[in-house]
Amino acid sequence: MLTEPFWTWSCPRPDDLPVADALPESADVAVIGGGFTGLSAARTLAQSGASVVVLERETIGWGASSRNGGMTGCGLKRPSQAIFERYGESYGHAFWQASLEAFDLVKEMVFTEGVDCDFSENGSICLAYKPSHFEGFKAEAEWNRRVLGHEMRLVSPSELKDEVGSAAYFGGILDDHGAGLHPAKLVFGVARVAAKYGATLVERAPVTRLEKTGGGFSVHTRRGLLRVREVVSAANGYTESLVPGLKSRVLPVGSYIIVTEPLSPELQKEISPKGRMMWDAKWFLNYFRLTPDGRMLWGGRNNLSTDLDLGESAQILRGQMLRAFPQLAGVPVTHTWSGKLGLTFDLMPHIGRVGGAHYAMGYGGHGFHVALYLGRELARLLTGEKTASPFAEIPHPTYFFYRDRAWFLPLAARYYRMLDALP
Ligand SMILES: Cc1cc2nc3c(=O)[nH]c(=O)nc-3n(C[C@H](O)[C@H](O)[C@H](O)COP(=O)(O)OP(=O)(O)OC[C@H]3O[C@@H](n4cnc5c(N)ncnc54)[C@H](O)[C@@H]3O)c2cc1C
Repeated sequence: MLTEPFWTWSCPRPDDLPVADALPESADVAVIGGGFTGLSAARTLAQSGASVVVLERETIGWGASSRNGGMTGCGLKRPSQAIFERYGESYGHAFWQASLEAFDLVKEMVFTEGVDCDFSENGSICLAYKPSHFEGFKAEAEWNRRVLGHEMRLVSPSELKDEVGSAAYFGGILDDHGAGLHPAKLVFGVARVAAKYGATLVERAPVTRLEKTGGGFSVHTRRGLLRVREVVSAANGYTESLVPGLKSRVLPVGSYIIVTEPLSPELQKEISPKGRMMWDAKWFLNYFRLTPDGRMLWGGRNNLSTDLDLGESAQILRGQMLRAFPQLAGVPVTHTWSGKLGLTFDLMPHIGRVGGAHYAMGYGGHGFHVALYLGRELARLLTGEKTASPFAEIPHPTYFFYRDRAWFLPLAARYYRMLDALP
């Protein structure tokens, strides 16, 4: 079993990716992190005429951006109804609209910028793991139709076999705004797009220290010093203590994935007749899909920790997968890997500024369309193309008990597992 993500195994970082050989001496903006947030911010900044350098500790897309499930759509991590209740109608509509534009931005990368990433818009379906979930889906579909004008279709337990070859679920809720893609191909493609507009991409350039100067920052990296006017942190789940006060705003949460050998065409058709993106409605959800070459990809959060052994996590995930799909018992698992997603205490993405550095973070695994959008949104705020964003206006909560180490996550994990066990 390989511990390399299936995505970068099937599409390794292209040799001709347009990265710079050396660090320039100065620029308008330094972007820390070469994932979807950083590359999207760099694209928009470069389009506006700013000189921008993306500094990536490893290689382009190395973080969550090439390690995810490749499942996209609309909405944010926090359910829309809860967003309306917490922030009111006006913000509620603004966040919903932003999520639709985020999905459109993925499509812009594919259809306008020409990024070839196996994009297929086959819809997504959330599956009821217990009967009470299906009752919740009925209320959710009605609320979405009435308040957002967004149609979601209920899939009754008897109709479910047309969607998924499993007896483990009690119905589903289908959203046509759902798509699958190859995340490594997308992130390498977005890097090319950012470079095309003039962004400088520098790999193996961990930022080790930020020093404030009269006109901005001296950015110290393992590859030298860069002087800039503005700094953007786009490290999300990989945020460390570089910018004081930033780490306490985001919790790194581990998400784990396995992929099997390619399934026979018959088994593919049985498991996912319509090629939907799928997940269940548990707090500790599992997500799954067929890869473009017909493998089963199965993911989940285990205990929220970021350092579970990949062999052990493969065993846990395979057990979960076989409970839902016993017909996969004879199919070997070929890849096991993990990545860190960035979770905020209020489950909302945020744009902000601390210690003089700008940041966008906290997509909670939902996910890369929002990362692309917030990178662009932050860049538009920096260039003055936009003067306000709901993501910059809502409070970004932090708590005294979390500064550096999320010691409480295993306790939270136990609590949410208990909720999943209730009927
Ligand atoms: C296993 C997994 C499955 C997921 N599945 C989905 C999914 O199916 N759909 C979905 O929409 N979302 C999903 N997500 C979430 C999605 O991948 C992320 O929201 C998105 O990729 C975040 O992009 P980003 O650019 O903000 O962060 P990242 O892609 O994590 O990039 C941050 C980068 O910052 C770099 N960095 C950190 N510190 C420094 C430093 N000091 N100097 C230089 N560089 C630094 C890191 O090396 C890293 O490459 C998943 C996430 C994981 C982990």
